[in-house]
Amino acid sequence: MEDLRARVREVTLRLVELYAERMSLVRRIADLKREKGLPVRDEVVEARLWDEVLAKCKERGLDQLDCRRVFSFLISSSIRAQIPEGGGAGPHVEIFRRAKEIERSGAKVYHLEVGEPPWSFPPDVLDSLVEAIKRGETRYGTSLGNPRFKEAASEWLSRRDGIDARPEEVIPTPGSKYAIFSILSTFLRPGDRVGVLLPAWPAYRGMASHLSLEMVEISSTDEVEKLKGVRAFILCSPNNPDGKVWSRRELESLAEVLRETDALLISDDAYAELSFVERVSPSKIYENTVSVNTLSKAFGMTGFRLGYVRGDEELVRKLSKFIGLTVTNVPEFIQEAGASALESAEGWIQRVMEHLISYLDLAMRKLEGAPLEMNRPDGALYLFPKVELEGFNSMEFATRLLEDRRIAVAPGIGFGPYDDRLRITYASPDADQGLRLLREALQSWRS
Ligand code: PLP
Repeated sequence: MEDLRARVREVTLRLVELYAERMSLVRRIADLKREKGLPVRDEVVEARLWDEVLAKCKERGLDQLDCRRVFSFLISSSIRAQIPEGGGAGPHVEIFRRAKEIERSGAKVYHLEVGEPPWSFPPDVLDSLVEAIKRGETRYGTSLGNPRFKEAASEWLSRRDGIDARPEEVIPTPGSKYAIFSILSTFLRPGDRVGVLLPAWPAYRGMASHLSLEMVEISSTDEVEKLKGVRAFILCSPNNPDGKVWSRRELESLAEVLRETDALLISDDAYAELSFVERVSPSKIYENTVSVNTLSKAFGMTGFRLGYVRGDEELVRKLSKFIGLTVTNVPEFIQEAGASALESAEGWIQRVMEHLISYLDLAMRKLEGAPLEMNRPDGALYLFPKVELEGFNSMEFATRLLEDRRIAVAPGIGFGPYDDRLRITYASPDADQGLRLLREALQSWRS
């Protein structure tokens, strides 16, 4: 017995050695693939290896299921080793966390780092919420959502995007971030490629890394050809952080590439209501589009954690399984509050846009004379200027700005290779004072 145990130990340690050798080969292959711009996953190579493994397992009389488990483990660890660490939700969330810590010690912080709109929610929201609670809508619900919410959301989408959305195509989600994560988890598998246009919201990268998906980043819409073979593309129009709104022509050229492999277009419509220019809905241009929406931004309901997805019925059914498995359902009283916001959307959005324009005008005035190169954005809540200062480093600047002057901004580096930029939330209750202090801080950085 002792002898056998010693041999088991020896074989186990040999397996560890072999595993280490395998991983070092995988890392060398990963470097070569990166150099040549090749995808992480090669299904032909994988299938060939699986056939060989299967044959070997048979030859040695091993259980098929065990073999499959070992093989899946090896393939997934190969994929994992080739996907760079994603950095979580992004450095601006770190800045936000630190800002909150400083506030708890009693100091005032000027918040220009998070996408928290300065307006509250539509007036009927609170009554709807309380009434729903009084009616007892505080129990479990179904993951597919409540009829009133689905009706209100499909009507609003139809009006907003000029499409024909039906309630059966809509599912509520606890915020749109969770919706994007749910879609990626449900429809993609490790090693699949996901495209984005830079600069991009940091959470996309964080989610892809968490799910072992490979990001394919393009830095201009002229580069859509590079997206051939992606399983999905995440598009945000108006975009966080630079406010870019995709033109019809740009959407069409993207659709042409995605159509070749029937890739999924995940349209992150978080800022769809907040566009200063005419916005074409991606759902109108490309069939296989799933539209992800939120009540956080235009409707000022960040803390309610309420979003909704519109896609074909099959997609919605599959997504409802994921939602059912993870959070069960969006609270029914939250859906009631959301329905009343969406039912009053038309007039509400008009007022919000007036506010937004005045915030933008204020920001442009307050930042005049600052060493910043910037354009007026086409939409969303942010400015994404280039800082014209020698040796500027966005993370270092944002950290020092917060510690020394109590102004929180988002470092550009979180959104891609933009260490010379900052993302500034111009639509912030702290904009008036905060932007003035930011300009002064930038001006004195020169000296
Ligand atoms: N998508 C984008 C581009 C965002 O900027 C945000 C929030 O900042 C979200 C999605 C998530 O919003 P929520 O989860 O509050 O719906």
